[in-house]
Amino acid sequence: MMHGLADHLSATLAQIRADGLEKSETVIGSSQSGTVTVGGRQLVNLCANNYLGLADHSEVVEATIKATENFGSGMASVRFICGTHELHKELENSVARYLEKDDAILFGSCFDANGGIFETILGPEDAVISDTLNHASIIDGVRLSKARRYRFQTSDMDDLRLQLQAADDDGARFKLIVTDGVFSMDGFIANLPEICNLAEQYRAAVMIDECHATGHLGEKGRGTPALTGAGGRVDIISGTFGKTLGGAMGGFIAGPQPVIDLLRQRARPYLFSNALPPGVAAGAIKAIEIAEKADDLRRTLANYTARFRSALTEAGFDLVPGETPIIPLMLYDAVKAQKMAQALRDRGVLVSAFSFPVVPREKARIRTQMSAALTDENISFAIDAFIGAGRDVGVI
Ligand SMILES: *Cc1c(COP(=O)(O)O)cnc(C)c1O
Repeated sequence: MMHGLADHLSATLAQIRADGLEKSETVIGSSQSGTVTVGGRQLVNLCANNYLGLADHSEVVEATIKATENFGSGMASVRFICGTHELHKELENSVARYLEKDDAILFGSCFDANGGIFETILGPEDAVISDTLNHASIIDGVRLSKARRYRFQTSDMDDLRLQLQAADDDGARFKLIVTDGVFSMDGFIANLPEICNLAEQYRAAVMIDECHATGHLGEKGRGTPALTGAGGRVDIISGTFGKTLGGAMGGFIAGPQPVIDLLRQRARPYLFSNALPPGVAAGAIKAIEIAEKADDLRRTLANYTARFRSALTEAGFDLVPGETPIIPLMLYDAVKAQKMAQALRDRGVLVSAFSFPVVPREKARIRTQMSAALTDENISFAIDAFIGAGRDVGVI
């Protein structure tokens, strides 16, 4: 009894397909690793957020199984009623210690963490100053808050200064600058030292989203504050357990004690959503323990990144410049990006084409991501496949 709504939705879907913007899902029949099995075929995997290869790490899996056996499949409660397990407290302490913050709070995902923080800590008298390229979850979180919104062109420090000044001129009580630490679709790193300088000058707080950094970038994997030297000048950090830190699920915010304490009282995705399963918490605790010591894996990851980037550049591909394991290959046209992804898959390499609304229209791309789970042979194989597919599709 949809009274025409279903037909309307079908027409929208037909348009998405006609525009080359349809996202199809690849069905994987193996664990997430350097290679995956798709329809019985083994493919070299260049599109997981599995930077250190911990998603199927034996110790992470074992910790998850043991906690599940001991404590069951889940808590069947939100945290404040009867859903707080010892493992949650242990994981929060572990995140806070790892990122050198007063405390941390867990969420069902980083999407929820970013969705809950702005409306909790800022009021209508306050201002949030947000990079235009920030993740969708930050954009949505900012929309949910009553704070005044200012946007600065991505990584443009002159524009950030203008926006801070505009917020001051508008009489903002408190100001919060928010940026991705690593921009997920482009792979470049925020200019944290300069952002922190401006924050100091304009008396603003600084929050970063470290989903594509925590665990694999900077000393001990402490992320972009460690990598850029901004360190403790960054006030609030959001992140995920769904990428480098085990790849399961769950998000967090780490920061000053009053921020974390107020989030426990007021953040809606925390108050009104189920607690993380004990097995997931135990896996994340183990993943942090491994990541902190994983200089060898970080070195492998950096070597693959340098090798793949230089081979593709040399072959004539148009890459977004950067130094993180996110290496985007620009095709601009959505249909061409899809064709290139298919040609790569035919040659045994799994990549994903990104188009609107994940990236701006006319900026379609293939985002490749390196992983310590890959082998040298996988990288050589992938480079050959890119060159072959690139010629087939007419990209190089
Ligand atoms: C992946 C990602 C998120 C969402 O994290 P989940 O835990 O998967 O919800 C948020 N921000 C950025 C920058 C991301 O890359």
